[in-house]
Amino acid sequence: MVTMSSPAEARVDLGAIGDNVALLRDRAAGAEVMAMVKAEGYGHGLVPAARAALAGGATWLGVAKLAEGLELHEAGLAGRSGVRTLVCLGVPGEPYGKGVQAGLDLAAGAPWLVKEIAEAARRTGVPARIHLKADTGMSRGGATGEDWPALVDAALAAEAEGLLRVVGLMSHFACADEPGHPSIGRQLSAFQEMVEHAEKAGIRPEVRHLSNSAATLMIPEARFDLVRPGIAVYGLTPVPREGTFGLRPAMTLVAGAALLKRVPEGSGVSYGHTYVTGRGTNLALVPAGYGDGIPRHGSNVLEVLAAGRRRRIAGRVCMDQFMIDLGDDTLAAGDEIVLFGTGERGEPTAQEWADALGTISYEIVTRIGSRVPRVYTGGPGAGPPRSAKPGNAEPGSVGTGSVDG
Ligand SMILES: *Cc1c(COP(=O)(O)O)cnc(C)c1O
Repeated sequence: MVTMSSPAEARVDLGAIGDNVALLRDRAAGAEVMAMVKAEGYGHGLVPAARAALAGGATWLGVAKLAEGLELHEAGLAGRSGVRTLVCLGVPGEPYGKGVQAGLDLAAGAPWLVKEIAEAARRTGVPARIHLKADTGMSRGGATGEDWPALVDAALAAEAEGLLRVVGLMSHFACADEPGHPSIGRQLSAFQEMVEHAEKAGIRPEVRHLSNSAATLMIPEARFDLVRPGIAVYGLTPVPREGTFGLRPAMTLVAGAALLKRVPEGSGVSYGHTYVTGRGTNLALVPAGYGDGIPRHGSNVLEVLAAGRRRRIAGRVCMDQFMIDLGDDTLAAGDEIVLFGTGERGEPTAQEWADALGTISYEIVTRIGSRVPRVYTGGPGAGPPRSAKPGNAEPGSVGTGSVDG
């Protein structure tokens, strides 16, 4: 086993990100690709993920918040020629002037936001580029069909003053990850109608876009001019029951064993003694806890790869650490333990952790905290994905904690 120096680190394979974007570009069949890099590139690191996505053929970057767009601008990515960056989520009172000057595209789903952006453009003397956001049935951001004409009119009025240009029309699917869901067709036709209304009213968009990862991979008729994949960029499947689509997970979370000890039968482990050793056994301390983003709900549930096989977390996950039960196997302090990764070596994947916890892989990777350094590896064209081999979990006796997983 490899000896490592930091307590825990997230290894990010930038080659995998590039390859995943290339695969998505292929599937997008002519539509451009906006790689969603919000939330620190789904936990992988905003700027490195953005660079890798551009290397893979993305021509747009997507973020949720203005500050994220400004960070890309400062890194020299947002304004790079041939690259556009869209800020998807606007709130009142943000420094939109800075966004406009940085050359960011801004999404607007309400007339007040169009006006706020227009005023910022007036102050800075730089016309804004905006994307009108339609609520076609998700009931989250954007204007509903009823409110759409007022949004379009507000944008046309600001366009007439030369304060902005509507360069995009967009919406977002609620259930694209559930193939055949009746809302998919309804949202698609609502979007087409709203686009038609806007174009008849005089809007001349450069791009119309609706598709997240699931739609990019599964709903060809929703690709329009641009697709906005997020989770698939990082190699995680947006539709677990449809398989991996050939995507390669980019993040491997590892920790170095911090302490090994022999304890007798009947030893209660960690807070609350929810795990009690069934016999004399070797315990290893893993220096990563919920303060690093390891879900506390994973206590006595999640598995990791240590000393060549799967081991379930023994007892409660603490803020900085958790324990695993090695039986009679041993590790040396500093030996590498793989929490999740590609699955190629038999370790769990983020998808497997998500399944065990009743959540989605998005949450598993995005929540890995800033205390965990990201270590970047890999280059475009690293090997093909291989399927995960199931490991051998070896639980001890468990008290009140669940061992389902
Ligand atoms: C996050 C996000 C996406 C990407 O969604 P995935 O399911 O991760 O592909 C696309 N569009 C918008 C507006 C988003 O907020």
